[in-house]
Amino acid sequence: MKAPKVVIIGGNMAGLSAARQLSGELDVTLVNPGDYCEWLPNIHELVSGTKEPDSLRIPLATVLERCGHRFLRDSVTELDTEQGRAVLASGRILPFDRCIVAVGGVNNPAGVPGAEARSLPFKSVRDAYAIHTRLCELVDDGERRGVTVVGAGLEGVEVLGEILRGFDRYQSLLDIHVVEAGQRLLPDAPARVDKGIRKASRPFPVKFHTGTRVAEVGPDSVTLDDGHQLDSALTIWTGGVMPHPRLRAWGLAASGGDAPVDEALRSRYCDQVFVVGDAADTGQGLQKQAYHAMAMGEQAAANVEAELRGEPTKAFQPAPKPQLITFGHLDCFLIFDRMVVAGMVLGQLKEAIYQVNMARLDPPSRPGPALSFYQRLYQGFWHSLWPHVTRLDTLRRLPKLRFYRQDGSGDEREHA
Ligand SMILES: Cc1cc2nc3c(=O)[nH]c(=O)nc-3n(C[C@H](O)[C@H](O)[C@H](O)COP(=O)(O)OP(=O)(O)OC[C@H]3O[C@@H](n4cnc5c(N)ncnc54)[C@H](O)[C@@H]3O)c2cc1C
Repeated sequence: MKAPKVVIIGGNMAGLSAARQLSGELDVTLVNPGDYCEWLPNIHELVSGTKEPDSLRIPLATVLERCGHRFLRDSVTELDTEQGRAVLASGRILPFDRCIVAVGGVNNPAGVPGAEARSLPFKSVRDAYAIHTRLCELVDDGERRGVTVVGAGLEGVEVLGEILRGFDRYQSLLDIHVVEAGQRLLPDAPARVDKGIRKASRPFPVKFHTGTRVAEVGPDSVTLDDGHQLDSALTIWTGGVMPHPRLRAWGLAASGGDAPVDEALRSRYCDQVFVVGDAADTGQGLQKQAYHAMAMGEQAAANVEAELRGEPTKAFQPAPKPQLITFGHLDCFLIFDRMVVAGMVLGQLKEAIYQVNMARLDPPSRPGPALSFYQRLYQGFWHSLWPHVTRLDTLRRLPKLRFYRQDGSGDEREHA
């Protein structure tokens, strides 16, 4: 009997996690436009030069071959859910018995004129490295220039921290602006995080513009909605992600949103299709986070196998996870709903999470992955840990942890 065919669309965290879970006895094909799975939670470290692009990439062809699966560097353009087939940009057609859709979201320029053409997005290793390169060009020019970070959510704050970390010797050459529509930085986090970031930024040439939006991005400027114009030789767009437009075209989402799924992660519109990661709307208001994406990928794969064996599927149970936000070499915040733990030592936790997950997605069991594993460890030690323990100012701050709890009234108390 022929092995059932499974097609996975998208090969980043959710898609690769699904593929790794699926048995090599199935006929599995993963389609992704790029050759690599990229560990996005640490791409901000490319901006400062703390990490290098290869240390955040996992070669899909190699990992999938080890699992007994097929990798196609291509893009799915059409999904015919009635016939059970995916049509690729190359024209190739892949029939499937089950399909796992893991296409994530896309950059959201929010309809702001000039945002797409004149700012650099922050959604991939390539994007983050382009920002690093442009910053190097600006400081090499030797003239004072403006840099604007649009959005002060997790990505914007981490980018700002890395600019301060990587380019602190060039403070006299940079005017950094951060524009955030919310009333404070990281609007969803307790107010203490906003205070901590502003305080840590005080010695640097940073201006925060909160409660205001970008109205237009020009070639060398950013115009705010109050008419104020900022000089900006480099504009970095971290305005969040929006649902992938193909979800609607493929009949998996009704009105330009994410794809609704049931508790087994099956599409509410098509029985053979499971949707995972950032593309899925579980109805639970889950944050778009890497660990949810990986867990969904694994659960959907387990459900596909169960179903093909004629067994019942299991509900996806998201584990509660705190959010970890690094602010360059200056601070780090671990946020559990209303509780915040802050301190530079937590930056090492983010490094550990990165090392563990890269090793999990690409286990160092053979010479190639083992070499990448040791290179990542070596780079993490020299660029992330060593600079902290060899500078007296950072070493003094390293072991100190602060605890804040926000009570029901929104007041915050500091605990020793
Ligand atoms: C800058 C940044 C920082 C982040 N920091 C954190 C963090 O600190 N902690 C955390 O938990 N999460 C973080 N996240 C969120 C986390 O990275 C995402 O939740 C996670 O990447 C979602 O995984 P995914 O596989 O669902 O989607 P994605 O990672 O977006 O991957 C989707 C994949 O699908 C491919 N694809 C798209 N369209 C097609 C098509 N038509 N055919 C084939 N393939 C296609 C894409 O090329 C891509 O490879 C961050 C995200 C960003 C952008």
